[in-house]
Amino acid sequence: MTNEKNESDARSDFVRNIVLDDLKSDKWGGRVHTRFPPEPNGYLHIGHAKSILLNYGIAKEFGGKFNLRFDDTNPLKEESEYVESIIDDIKWLGAEFDDRLYHASDYFEQLYEWAVQLIKDGKAYVDDLSAEEIRQYRGTLTEPGKDSPYRDRSVEENLDLFQRMKAGEFPDGSRVLRAKIDMASPNMNLRDPVLYRILHAPHHRTGNYWNIYPMYDWAHGQSDSIEGITHSICTLEFEDHRPLYNWFLEQLGVYHPQQIEFAKLFLTYTIMSKRNLIRLVEEGHVNGWDDPRMPTIAGMRRRGYTPAAISDFCGRIGVAKANNLVDYGLLEFSVREDLNAHAPRAMAVLNPLKVVIENYPEDQVEKFDVPDHPQDRSNTETHKVPFSRVIYIEREDFMEDPPGKFFRLAPGREVRLLKAYYITCTDVIKDEDGNVVELRCTYDPQSRGGRSPDGRKVKGTLHWVSAQHAIPAEVRLYDLLFTKENPSEVEPGKDFTSNLNPQSLQVLTNCLVEPSLAKARPGDQIQFMRQGYFTVDPDSKPGALVFNRTVTLRDTWKKIKKKG
Ligand code: ATP
Ligand code: MG
Repeated sequence: MTNEKNESDARSDFVRNIVLDDLKSDKWGGRVHTRFPPEPNGYLHIGHAKSILLNYGIAKEFGGKFNLRFDDTNPLKEESEYVESIIDDIKWLGAEFDDRLYHASDYFEQLYEWAVQLIKDGKAYVDDLSAEEIRQYRGTLTEPGKDSPYRDRSVEENLDLFQRMKAGEFPDGSRVLRAKIDMASPNMNLRDPVLYRILHAPHHRTGNYWNIYPMYDWAHGQSDSIEGITHSICTLEFEDHRPLYNWFLEQLGVYHPQQIEFAKLFLTYTIMSKRNLIRLVEEGHVNGWDDPRMPTIAGMRRRGYTPAAISDFCGRIGVAKANNLVDYGLLEFSVREDLNAHAPRAMAVLNPLKVVIENYPEDQVEKFDVPDHPQDRSNTETHKVPFSRVIYIEREDFMEDPPGKFFRLAPGREVRLLKAYYITCTDVIKDEDGNVVELRCTYDPQSRGGRSPDGRKVKGTLHWVSAQHAIPAEVRLYDLLFTKENPSEVEPGKDFTSNLNPQSLQVLTNCLVEPSLAKARPGDQIQFMRQGYFTVDPDSKPGALVFNRTVTLRDTWKKIKKKG
């Protein structure tokens, strides 16, 4: 690498190499200008984050500019809610577009004029064929298409009809404007693509002004040209559209950005298709776009994934030319790394089991120091956790009849309560149905702070909360949204929703957390010791805390390769 990039996490990939080469050859006069061009027809997902961070990262690393532009050409599918969520998500990711927020709809007038220019040059015509007929005339990959009978209309007739399309004289679907390129081209995109359709539909920004709307392909490349984009970075499926975009820009004789295609991100056990994500929301399979199980940025943010973790993940997966499927565990690895470094530790009992320490004085309360960041030796911050005679431990930390490898609490067995005392279970109390409802224990006053009084060892260390001090909380545990690596692999007659994981959300309503969390606010992140990393949900209120489990503690991702 050259020394343009000297940050420790400097990234290198084929797109950045192209930018570097262009800077060396002075192709763009030293300029680097990228953009992220979403269609506002859904919320952004983690795949979009890859594209945003690539475009923004390049602009930032090379001292260039980054635009946000909405490619808002389809009024039927677009909504302001999506626009707002997209802006929020991009800002949250840290991709700064400053005042460079644009819309393809800002260019509708210019695009119209350019279409008129094509008509005048004999390069576009109004076609009266129906959508179905256009499809039939288009041919197939192995057979050439057929010319429309309207292809040779005069320039005057085309101009007149197109102007009347714009004026709203014709019903939806009755006519289109098409480019006149080549109905026999081996590239289907060049077989006289549609440029404009008639649509008497209000647009979220231009209202009822337009009765015709440009197709995405007609708007996208020209919008990049208008904005002076140098590198139009897009995903692989646009490779076949590049010749078309080139053709448009050449016919119009306007500024011509360079298009570069990279591979989309696909993740195991989830989906990226906006159409299918919309179905999950609309059919109620999840609780909205920001459901923490969704692969959306809004969902991941609510779950507690951080911008730093998402950026780290995108750095690890890199940018390549070939599509591949990335293990969801790699994303969790990045989240865990970030939260391990930043989330303070605390104790929470998710499934409480009452424990009475019979030899502990009735009215006594002691406060123990629990380190906030035990993973970081240089950080000595601690917080106080009260201890008293009645505590709660995790139900699964007790077994009446434990198998060989169970090192936690059992009748007659001694364990350590984290940072508090050694306790020994002396009695088990059950209800009429035989369920364990309470344990009786004794403690060793000599083991204060959880230290061994005489060198004797215990194998288990349990977290706990003091009954009279603990705060009730709801905890939401999440699992993968789908049961299949590739959710679109389905049995005949079924669709991807048949692969939804019925266990993806588990809500625990009887949890108890230590009192230091009383003031926890939405977005706060904590490691509940032995349980995982948790983030306070926006539903949370003082006195009615709600935590999302962001990620479990243990690495399920074994094959991780550290960054070089
Ligand atoms: P659709 O066009 O089907 O509605 P889309 O995901 O392509 O869905 P866009 O709003 O067009 O939605 O996407 C904006 C940008 O994000 C595009 O440049 C697109 O190439 C890029 N992008 C979309 N999905 C991914 C992905 N999975 N990985 C990386 N980039 C993506
Ligand atoms: Mg798209």
